[in-house]
Amino acid sequence: MFEELFQRLGIGEVNRGVTPVDERAPAAGPLLRPTNPASGSALPTVQSASPEEYDRAVDRARAAFTSWRTVPPPRRGEVVRQIGEGLRARKADLGLLITLETGKIRTEGEGEVQEMIDMCDFAVGLSRQLYGLTIASERPLHRMIEQWHPLGPIGIVTAFNFPAAVWAWNAMIAAVCGDTIVWKPSPRTPLTAVAVQRIVDGVARANDCEDVFQLCAGGEDIGRRMLDDRRLPLISATGSCRLGRVVGEVVGRRLGRSLLELGGNNAIIIAPSAELELAIPATVFAAVGTAGQRCTTARRLIVHESLHDRVLESLASAYRRVRIGDPWDDSVLMGPLISEDSVASMMAALEAARSQGGEVVWGGRRLDRPGYFVEPALVRARPEMPIVGEETFAPILYVMPYRTIDEAIAIQNSVEQGLTSAVFTNDFREAEQFLSAEGSDCGIANVNIGTSGAEIGGAFGGEKSTGGGREAGSDSWKAYMRRQTCTINRGRELPLAQGVRFDIGRD
Ligand code: NAD
Repeated sequence: MFEELFQRLGIGEVNRGVTPVDERAPAAGPLLRPTNPASGSALPTVQSASPEEYDRAVDRARAAFTSWRTVPPPRRGEVVRQIGEGLRARKADLGLLITLETGKIRTEGEGEVQEMIDMCDFAVGLSRQLYGLTIASERPLHRMIEQWHPLGPIGIVTAFNFPAAVWAWNAMIAAVCGDTIVWKPSPRTPLTAVAVQRIVDGVARANDCEDVFQLCAGGEDIGRRMLDDRRLPLISATGSCRLGRVVGEVVGRRLGRSLLELGGNNAIIIAPSAELELAIPATVFAAVGTAGQRCTTARRLIVHESLHDRVLESLASAYRRVRIGDPWDDSVLMGPLISEDSVASMMAALEAARSQGGEVVWGGRRLDRPGYFVEPALVRARPEMPIVGEETFAPILYVMPYRTIDEAIAIQNSVEQGLTSAVFTNDFREAEQFLSAEGSDCGIANVNIGTSGAEIGGAFGGEKSTGGGREAGSDSWKAYMRRQTCTINRGRELPLAQGVRFDIGRD
């Protein structure tokens, strides 16, 4: 089944992790060995970029920038449109590869490819809308404008759990903005990156812009080179808060720009007026979907005390119905965790919860089968428990009661991360309070829908330790360009701003 998939996607036993492949390049870097998390067995390998290959890739991206920045944006949009077409044609195969490499269920694997296609469509439209402003000048016969120029070759570092979509959020926007791209995917999901890059390379070759999109597979070694590399004015990094601290420090030291999309610790509030027919399934999708391995996964459930026990019972009954198994089986709702380490960190978190006074009321056991399968866990908890403040990248939901909406919002805001948040309520005042300046402190705040599964049209990202970056829709494109303020004088005099006089007289 998978051999044919690999063949169709052009994946061999050993694959070069640098494309476009430079045949003259010396020996490549160490082998990346992804595994199928549903069985623990080895997948085809990817040869990571050597330091020399990395250097060459950035040089190529830099050289390509000098011409790509002069291509009219709608023409750049046309290249992105063709990439979208290439992804459409390969949606099922790419989706299955994502499923195979990450363990997310097939509909989510295909959904990830759809997200990339949506990003392409968005970026094509954007390519005709990179608007600046006209600003009123205080000086006679003067005019001010604000315009946007391409930034340069940008570095994109991505996480394992969205091995392709996060690249598209960044790369498709950056490409229409006139930037060139150097992509370092997660060493745990390099095959998806190789397959995506193959599609992109085909389109780029046909449009004579081959060096615009560079792939440099590798681990922390390549990542660190990128952070330190002055040739890359912007580093967009997606991953843990730990990664974000390193990126912020290293890129900050060279006064480069960083765009950070880091961990979340997202909460759902269920208020007394909530419709449980919506709240329960939304919570289950947000907490259990993708085996709890989304940055937007709901990790905390804050339930009004009047509903607390009822909600816990309904959730336990829903959790019982979640089929766990091979992620490519269409009847399955939850696949495996990504690795043995992830299973270990879930078990350690549950142990910590117990020792801090929490009670595991449902699930939390490892399944007796090959691969990294676990039951999702429901934990009766208190907000003060230190483990509740941590992002454990696994399906653990901490359930906590509250009395007043003020208290619920305070609990929701009490963690260091600030990505997504949601309230289920039919009380207009509660909903508005949640969305107000005294409400949720997250980058995303939802009413009557869960925390995960964002659309690409909005700006995506979070506050506090989530890093403050915004990607995908709205005006996120501005992060990939440099802003220029221009003042133009069509008069014959030189009036100074703020009425300053500086008369040097005549010769
Ligand atoms: P991770 O932090 O382990 O790795 C992410 C990427 O950073 C990988 O490519 C890795 O090789 C690279 N990296 C790690 N250390 C580095 C270093 N010192 N220098 C340079 N590069 C380095 O994250 P992960 O386990 O792959 O992904 C899960 C995490 O990502 C979770 O915390 C999740 O919340 C977060 N995430 C956030 C978003 C978002 O948009 N906010 C989206 C997806 C995932």
